Amino acid sequence: MIGGGITGLAAAYRLRELAASREMPLEVTLLERSAHLGGALESIRREGFIFENGADSFLAEKPEARELVTRLGLEAELIRTRAEFRRTMVVRGGRLVEVPEGFSLMAPARLGPILASELFSPLGKLRIALEPFIPARRDGSEESLASFVTRRLGREVLDRVAQPLAGGIYTADPERLSITATMPRFVEMERRYGSVCKGLRAVERARGAAAKGDSGARWSLFLSLRSGVGAIPAAIAAKLGGSIRSATEVRSIERQGDFWRVHFDGGASEVADAVICAAPAFAAASILGAANGRLAKCLGEISYASAAVANMAFREADFPTPPKSFGFVVPIAERRRIIAGSLSSLKYENRAPAGFITARAFVGGVLQNEMMRQSDDDMIAAVRDEFRALLGISAAPQIAIVRRWPDSMPQYVVGHLARVAEIERLAAQIPAFALAGAAYRGVGIPDCIRGGEAVAEKIIAQVSEGR
Ligand SMILES: Cc1cc2nc3c(=O)[nH]c(=O)nc-3n(C[C@H](O)[C@H](O)[C@H](O)COP(=O)(O)OP(=O)(O)OC[C@H]3O[C@@H](n4cnc5c(N)ncnc54)[C@H](O)[C@@H]3O)c2cc1C
Repeated sequence: MIGGGITGLAAAYRLRELAASREMPLEVTLLERSAHLGGALESIRREGFIFENGADSFLAEKPEARELVTRLGLEAELIRTRAEFRRTMVVRGGRLVEVPEGFSLMAPARLGPILASELFSPLGKLRIALEPFIPARRDGSEESLASFVTRRLGREVLDRVAQPLAGGIYTADPERLSITATMPRFVEMERRYGSVCKGLRAVERARGAAAKGDSGARWSLFLSLRSGVGAIPAAIAAKLGGSIRSATEVRSIERQGDFWRVHFDGGASEVADAVICAAPAFAAASILGAANGRLAKCLGEISYASAAVANMAFREADFPTPPKSFGFVVPIAERRRIIAGSLSSLKYENRAPAGFITARAFVGGVLQNEMMRQSDDDMIAAVRDEFRALLGISAAPQIAIVRRWPDSMPQYVVGHLARVAEIERLAAQIPAFALAGAAYRGVGIPDCIRGGEAVAEKIIAQVSEGR
């Protein structure tokens, strides 16, 4: 296993589970470049606080993360977002405005809440109301988020809601982000119902009253763990024990007869029957190298964005008015210096001692990459300015931590699906080898777990056949 992010850990754990259930002797070695296991999942404890330095939630409706948590014996640790603060806000004209009820990423299921909302202009509302009458495009070709949303719902929906909500997830440029690769359910709604609004209404009807009241990224459907998402990699690491070698960078792999020779940074090497590479695509390209030139080239074409997370702890009394919502996103059109903000201790219980509120800002991404050039102190100062303007908090934080994530967010640009299909075709020709990770078919934690577990199953099947 190359790469100790959630994909590699989930794959290694699945290999162990499968080998045990088949009573198959199997030695798994997981090689991770850094000293930290879990990749973008990193929860830290400090002075009674729990800070999420990277990912902080996972979607409940994709079952893979929940199921893994259960298999790891952590089910009792699962927590939902706090219902009393479950509201999605978006910055509009320098103020936080609630995303209308029933609005899902880019479109509303119902028109009533849109008409009452201050988020859109009268013309913008009229354009949204026309969506069911816009002819569907059914040619099946990949389209950008910007093109899809503008075509169906108008520019205002793109600029005010779809760009910031997608930006909060993909840190991407909506003009380049592939809607087909990132939000295929909306493309499917257009194909099936001729309208995204009609499609959302159908989904809402099917879900029943329980879905009503959700908005934006449907945050009520997000889950975490009491001690933070970092509990997942920690639990897998404890189960895998001595099989993990951190601070070990893989340089290259080389096919020798029926085996792989895995070369480490520093010159040492080892042999393996099979290799799963769950490092980012650019690292996989370099590991595969010239011997697999076409595959390496395709992998190298997947571009990445950088981001940073700033965590802060404030005294509750320092907020002039108590915050009512646990999170907000910031349209690029607002010209501010953060992509999104959340009040993490209002989002999940157990994050801060009584009398304190923790806040988190997401910074950088493709559209604000210049922020990544700032020093930690300047980044904190910028985030404090934004929190002062948007949340009214001017007191100095008791704790402030910046965690940078360089080249961490794979960009699913238009053409991504074709590129991934080609990568999968080329990788399938290499014996006892598989690729997995956020670069390919989903960046979310459950997607990564699904991808890791699927390649584990494939490799176990191949290794068993070969014996
Ligand atoms: C700041 C941030 C916030 C996010 N928030 C959320 C969220 O709230 N919910 C959600 O569902 N998703 C979120 N995501 C996305 C999700 O967390 C990631 O897509 C996912 O964790 C990626 O997992 P991975 O294992 O595929 O890759 P990574 O986590 O990138 O792991 C790859 C690992 O490979 C290692 N590696 C690289 N090269 C080598 C080498 N040569 N040899 C050995 N090891 C190597 C790296 O050190 C790394 O540990 C977030 C991502 C980021 C960056």
